[in-house]
Amino acid sequence: MDRFSRESIIQDVLDMGFSHAGLADVGTLKPLEAVREMCAVDKCHAYGKNWSCPPGCGTIPECEAEMRSYDWGVLVQITQDLEDDLDFEGWKEAGKRLRDLSVSLHEELVKRYPQVLALGGAGCDICKTCTYPDAPCRFPEKRMSGMEGYGLVVSDVCRDNSLQYYYGPGTITYTGLFLIKEPENE
Ligand code: SF4
Repeated sequence: MDRFSRESIIQDVLDMGFSHAGLADVGTLKPLEAVREMCAVDKCHAYGKNWSCPPGCGTIPECEAEMRSYDWGVLVQITQDLEDDLDFEGWKEAGKRLRDLSVSLHEELVKRYPQVLALGGAGCDICKTCTYPDAPCRFPEKRMSGMEGYGLVVSDVCRDNSLQYYYGPGTITYTGLFLIKEPENE
């Protein structure tokens, strides 16, 4: 079986170090304007500053059309134990683990597939200063967005694809999504 094929990808990503994973049906991806409005509040200070985040990553209808143009997807998760609810270091570490593993997974997937949409992080930080909005993105093939940036409610996407979202008290879970276009459908 080919590594990172639809048949093997769950085991492949678990072998990489992700805690949980599941296949995603692109038909279940329903981005919402309400999520976009939450981004616009700009709590993370990334809104309007980066091609990977809203509004640079596209309107909600554009994001929906883009996601639905892929053939299939894989949801990946990092779950980490927390010392208590105020264990901000634990939260940060889990987010970094998801991002680092997502970068590695993205590198593997682009070697095998003609098009990959990586929603495995929250905002791109490849360049010291993003070109947004004055010039095109310098590295569109490496760029990652967040699921929320594309208007997705992460818990809904997990539920609709039969993947747990919450793994119990004292744990934090972060989720990413990778969408894949098969070569024959390019
Ligand atoms: S690769 Fe560079 S230009 Fe493109 S979104 Fe990331 S920071 Fe901006």
